[in-house]
Amino acid sequence: MHNSRYTSRLVNYACHDTASRGRKYTEQYPSYRNEYQRDRDRIIHSAAFRRLEYKTQVFVNHEGDLFRTRLTHSLEVAQIARSIARELGLHEDLTEAIALAHDLGHTPFGHAGQSALNSSMEKFGGFEHNLQSLRVVDKLEQKYADFDGLNLSFETREGILKHCSRPNAKKLGAVGQRFLDGTQPTLEAQLTDYSDEIAYNNHDIDDGLRYGLIKIEQLLTIELFRRQYDAVNKLYSGLNQKQLIHEIIRRMINVMVVDLIQTSVDKLDHTTLNSVDDVRQQPQRLIAFSEPMKARKLELKQFLRSQLYQHYRVHRMTRKATAVVQALFEAFMNDPKILPPEAREHCQQLAIRQPQTGIARGIADYIAGMTDRYAIVEYERIFNPGQLSFVNLIP
Ligand code: MG
Repeated sequence: MHNSRYTSRLVNYACHDTASRGRKYTEQYPSYRNEYQRDRDRIIHSAAFRRLEYKTQVFVNHEGDLFRTRLTHSLEVAQIARSIARELGLHEDLTEAIALAHDLGHTPFGHAGQSALNSSMEKFGGFEHNLQSLRVVDKLEQKYADFDGLNLSFETREGILKHCSRPNAKKLGAVGQRFLDGTQPTLEAQLTDYSDEIAYNNHDIDDGLRYGLIKIEQLLTIELFRRQYDAVNKLYSGLNQKQLIHEIIRRMINVMVVDLIQTSVDKLDHTTLNSVDDVRQQPQRLIAFSEPMKARKLELKQFLRSQLYQHYRVHRMTRKATAVVQALFEAFMNDPKILPPEAREHCQQLAIRQPQTGIARGIADYIAGMTDRYAIVEYERIFNPGQLSFVNLIP
């Protein structure tokens, strides 16, 4: 048995990497690491992971250096997920691998880029960032001699695929099976999903406040925020704005994490589980927030939706992002000769197997892989007849 010192700390319904459903291409058990550590390490060394640094969620990367990027977001998700996994006796390395990979398929320009690409791809099977994350680790990273993709273990791949339509699930085989038969994902996958939510709700408030898109006074109507605001003000006086925001946000994250752990422990204590398969067969998820926390989270989300994501500056960014993504897609579709050789070759390969949709899918892969900055430069190169000097510097 490998890694007995680590696996002895796991509960029996955790994912044990020694009982993994394995990889598509069988590999020898790694030395001094477990299988999920190997997955995590492969993700960190991937090109798609490096590009997360220049992709943003709500705001465009170059609009401000202090906004979260998808890279820092993914690291925050991993931090939260690992804390929860450790406390619950679940596999930390697996949660970390899922967290670091969960956004690899995101387009440039966050949600705006995703919906623009999805509408451009409407006639060709659509575009879904979550599915694309799986596509990146299964196929698009091409640097290993023995296989395309990163050849990750089943449990990491399954955790990356958070949601999936039935037609897509059918095409995916075993990893999509749970969307067809209604079984549950592993607890590691469940908790990473909630860690994502905890991370983005909090950092979006943080970014929104620091950039003046929302104000503390507005947030005082939100219970989750107001409670921590009161707690901080009781403890300290004379904090500057930066300290005040940080002290509130860190407490909000903590309150959500503690609630998730306590509620889940309670559910787990009342359920007989002897294996991962028992977890899969449960009628509901066993990782969960309490009912009061769900209500408070909903209040916060509604606030973010109406006050931050609908801010006129966010809308302006959305408009630009949509225009860039759609224009690039159309230009490449109308004239694939303008694609760089590698992207063109990729499209041609796909078209051999899928004559109707291959080219479009290849173009979507190319666009989805772009960083915010690269997409803007590519747009300039194609549409701007005047040469911008910095554009020429970027190969
Ligand atoms: Mg995320």
